[in-house]
Amino acid sequence: MSAILSNHTELLTRERIQQVMQEEVRLNAAFIDGEWITLAGVTNNYETATNNAHNLYDPSTGEVIAQTQLCTAAQVDQAAIAANKAFATWSQTTGAERAGYLNAIADSMEAQFAKLVGLSVFNNGKPIAEAEIDVGDAIACYRYYAELAAAQPTQTVVATDEPGIRLYKYLEPVGVCALIVPWNFPMVTTAWKLAPALAAGCTALLKPSEVTLIPELLLGNILSDINLPKGVVNILPGAAEVGAAMTSHPLIDKVSFTGSNAVGEKVMAQAATSAKDISLELGGKSAIIVREDADIDAACELIVGGIFTNAGQICSATSRLLVHQAIAQPLYQALKAMTEQLVIGEGFAGETQMGPLVSAAQLRQVQKYFAIAAEEQLNCLTGGISSELHAFKEGYFAVPTIYTDVPTDSRLWQEEIFGPVLVTATFADDTQAIQLANASDYALAATVVSADETQALAVASSVRAGHIWINEQQIVLPQAGWGGFKQSGIGRELGEDGLAAYQKSKHILLPN
Ligand code: NAD
Repeated sequence: MSAILSNHTELLTRERIQQVMQEEVRLNAAFIDGEWITLAGVTNNYETATNNAHNLYDPSTGEVIAQTQLCTAAQVDQAAIAANKAFATWSQTTGAERAGYLNAIADSMEAQFAKLVGLSVFNNGKPIAEAEIDVGDAIACYRYYAELAAAQPTQTVVATDEPGIRLYKYLEPVGVCALIVPWNFPMVTTAWKLAPALAAGCTALLKPSEVTLIPELLLGNILSDINLPKGVVNILPGAAEVGAAMTSHPLIDKVSFTGSNAVGEKVMAQAATSAKDISLELGGKSAIIVREDADIDAACELIVGGIFTNAGQICSATSRLLVHQAIAQPLYQALKAMTEQLVIGEGFAGETQMGPLVSAAQLRQVQKYFAIAAEEQLNCLTGGISSELHAFKEGYFAVPTIYTDVPTDSRLWQEEIFGPVLVTATFADDTQAIQLANASDYALAATVVSADETQALAVASSVRAGHIWINEQQIVLPQAGWGGFKQSGIGRELGEDGLAAYQKSKHILLPN
């Protein structure tokens, strides 16, 4: 990816990206039925005169970088009608035709890679390297589902032991989909839904997070540029009102939601009234288990990467460290030193390793847990503060934080913080490590660090989580299904499972 970026590095400054935003991003608009519909000051059958005014912020300064309007339920209705109409023809296209469009999206994203990266840095606060992962993985995801769409047979013969009959199986698109995404890795989370939905032959209403609209609106330009048929994808900048209207709309057949458990519960209830197909990717409180035989420095790299990447705002962040008691003290010392060396700063600065939190609300959420930790009298190894970052006092910065030997009944041990906060505990043997790792309402991901691959695999096979890394961290390949057990969600994204989530089987039986 760096090769693509190096051709466009002149774009990656705040000033140039601000210019790109002003010249190319369609603020105050929704992409509906292949057209940009202006949201402010327009009245027609669908639009109310008063859409919702909304500010977008630069997380590294707290300054307003753009003012825009959000959709209302009226635009959801308009988009659902368009997507429903488009479904009639899009669902009849061949897999190869859909693959052509998916590859065209990937080509166009590649051509605009630096712009997408820069807009993500600007709107989300993340360092350039993390935004490159967001956009790069999104491109890989569109390409992967292009391959699957092209390769999938339209009809398969099902073997039966019944003489004199034939049975055929078809995989049909589930219908019109409501795709609702969060702000933490916006481009890739969108791709994980949109790519398989399009590959399957579904049409979609996409609602980006209202916090990170800017790069997602550029995606609307891309869909327009590649001449995706009208109504196949509709992009609705909106907040909870729009999400609620999408998930309860009678023309929507499926809801795919990524976000918090609190909102996920509402989405399930909203979708229940019309028995919609539903996929939920929710929260996590994932464990990283460091066995006694682990190399301490290598383990610290994985621990630091697992919790402080994207300032801890990753659903699969390994936010609970379980370390063998024999190596806990030297590991804590090495971990403290490595953590305190992290370069915190604004995303556009090349040396930045950890950026700000995405919003004032997210900073308040992390500060709430600092206060709870103080009340619970937890041992703070490092961090636990936000306002002391004098250089950045206007932005949404929190210091990377570690609380050691945290009791398992602590709220910090049990609850998803979604910020740069690690809690630790020690274990005496693998059995206790597995028991502690599994003692959570969440079960999304885990990491095992060990010099002994056989033992590490044995531990991994007993940990209940949808994705486990051994001596690696946070690598998510398009081929691997993604999703958790327990309260981490329902269903799987990515891989073949991700395509199956947008298809339903249909069987036709006839005599020989
Ligand atoms: P959130 O739940 O606040 O919002 C997610 C999306 O839901 C946003 O687009 C929001 O506008 C929308 N929304 C809000 N109210 C709604 C309603 N009533 N009906 C429908 N939609 C509604 O989450 P967030 O703060 O944007 O993201 C952080 C959360 O996302 C964390 O809990 C994190 O673990 C989770 N997450 C999970 C995964 C995963 O793969 N499991 C990936 C990324 C993030």
